[in-house]
Amino acid sequence: MKTSIATVSISGDLKEKLQAIAKAGFDGVEIFENDFLAFDESPRQVGQMVRDHGLEITLFQPFRDFEGMPEPLRSRTFDRAERKFDLMQEMGTDLVLVCSNVSSAALGGIDRAAADFFELGERAAKRGLRVGYEALAWGRHIHDHRDAWEIVRRADHPNIGLILDSFHTLSRKIDVNSIRSIPKEKIFIIQLADAPLIDMDLLYWSRHFRNMPGEGDLPVLDFMNAVAATGYDGYLSLEIFNDQFRGGSPTAIAVDGRRSLLYLGDQVRRAKSGSLTLPSMPARAAVDGIAFVEFTVDEAETSVLSDRLGALGFRHVGRHKTKRVDVFRQGDINLVVNTDPDGFAGASYALHGQSAYAMGLWVDDAEAAIARAVALGAERFEQPLNPGEIEMPAVRGVGGGILYFLDRRSALARIWEIEFDPVNDDADLQPVGLTGIDHVAQTMKYEELLTWLLFYTAILDAHKTPMVDIIDPAGVVRSQVVENASGRLRITLNGAENRNTLAGHFIAETFGSGIQHLAFATDDIFATAAALSANGFATLTISPNYYDDLEARFGLDPAFTDRLKAHNILYDRDDHGEYFQLYSPTYGEGFFFEIVQRSGYRGYGAANAIFRIAALRRHLRPIGLPKL
Ligand code: MG
Ligand code: MG
Repeated sequence: MKTSIATVSISGDLKEKLQAIAKAGFDGVEIFENDFLAFDESPRQVGQMVRDHGLEITLFQPFRDFEGMPEPLRSRTFDRAERKFDLMQEMGTDLVLVCSNVSSAALGGIDRAAADFFELGERAAKRGLRVGYEALAWGRHIHDHRDAWEIVRRADHPNIGLILDSFHTLSRKIDVNSIRSIPKEKIFIIQLADAPLIDMDLLYWSRHFRNMPGEGDLPVLDFMNAVAATGYDGYLSLEIFNDQFRGGSPTAIAVDGRRSLLYLGDQVRRAKSGSLTLPSMPARAAVDGIAFVEFTVDEAETSVLSDRLGALGFRHVGRHKTKRVDVFRQGDINLVVNTDPDGFAGASYALHGQSAYAMGLWVDDAEAAIARAVALGAERFEQPLNPGEIEMPAVRGVGGGILYFLDRRSALARIWEIEFDPVNDDADLQPVGLTGIDHVAQTMKYEELLTWLLFYTAILDAHKTPMVDIIDPAGVVRSQVVENASGRLRITLNGAENRNTLAGHFIAETFGSGIQHLAFATDDIFATAAALSANGFATLTISPNYYDDLEARFGLDPAFTDRLKAHNILYDRDDHGEYFQLYSPTYGEGFFFEIVQRSGYRGYGAANAIFRIAALRRHLRPIGLPKL
């Protein structure tokens, strides 16, 4: 499988784009005409620059408004084509993309278009060039790949072929199975793009909202399976018009792009739908829970944190044999507190301050999980081991933090016994009934949301839920969840659009994205609330107005509402069950704990978010957020 990306997909000048594209591991690049025109070097120099990066120019694009023109426009379009052919030869590419005519002057007529393409094919053949025809979803007469294919078929010229673009086919809901009957040698290249489902004008949707395969909602895999069935084994090329990507980091977007193609290729390989030459990698890792979450803190802050964990019912159960690392446990939850000034934890502390910078996932096979992650371009994380330590496979995750993989088939299953000495210094501590981690919430800039959704869903056997808007009094935070069928993995990803929201403040003040809250599960929220209160743990105070509204909204028994209110418990319900939530105040720049009880409920209490955010904001330091 050969991968390519159009220069229009990422930000920067042509040089920056090529660097990022080459670094991400692409084999080829589509040169978008405007990127060339805005650049100061000659076509020959641009071609050389591409080849110096080890890349091939997969095509030059776009050539617009060609077929079906009346004279004298027709002659002029042919002259224009000859000029582009000159440029392509200097640049060193043999393929041009001609997109279907949108001009009001275009006459239409399949045979007229076919005749134009035959003539263009004759001219291209003289120079050893090829022409690929693409049906734009908003083309004036041709807006369906089946019609474009009919024109190519009737042109019947070896230098004229078809270009299929998943967006144009899928946005119009054209049956992808119509691709299966196209001969593979007539498909000159495949362009791929996904998009979120939004009901809007096709052109506007395409030019602003396309995203990488797997990041949107279109059935790109069905499209690709149909392509693979033809026997096509050429380039898969991303053509992504997205305002956010054009303003983002060229390197990050290029890495996402290549990851999206590799992941798509892997799905096609598993579907055994064709003859694409595809790299093999282990299957997506099945996650069986969060093994631990690790905090980095400095020595001075440890007693505050361990007191807080103690009040939450966590017992200090282990101390690392060689490092200043402690484990606190309750139920299945392991919280690791790392005060080691050396190593990555120390470096992370220096950069971000106190934070939950790492987490470990229980997977079926940690070696397979790391192999897949690395095959998909994740950055492997390794640090030197002390004698007696076991290597725990890991990659860099959100905000430069660490994502570890553990399994029960290797020594990793006994990590706590092998690397830690038992500690028994909180004999009189009272647990509060926390059983496990319900979800981990990671906060990031909105622009990073798609990156991490793709990262998690490509590596882990999990799916993403639809986007939900979380209303912060200072703006909107967009939230999407990565979760698996068993519910053993739930990561909420919150994308902040501005720094005045609680989420935006968190990333601005901690210098990066990361875990902003941990939600622990309990089977009995009222018992947990009572135990917390006995431990002297102050929960976040919720406005009494919330409870009046809640009672009316759900028709709750007033006595029940009073119990919720007495413990500052938030309540929600969906078709599947009930949800109870209570919160800690915020610590530092906005980190907090949540405790939830869910009985079948599938959401995360989005309707309650505005109330708890308002309450959390009141607890931030006075210098924190602007007054509203
Ligand atoms: Mg296209
Ligand atoms: Mg939550």
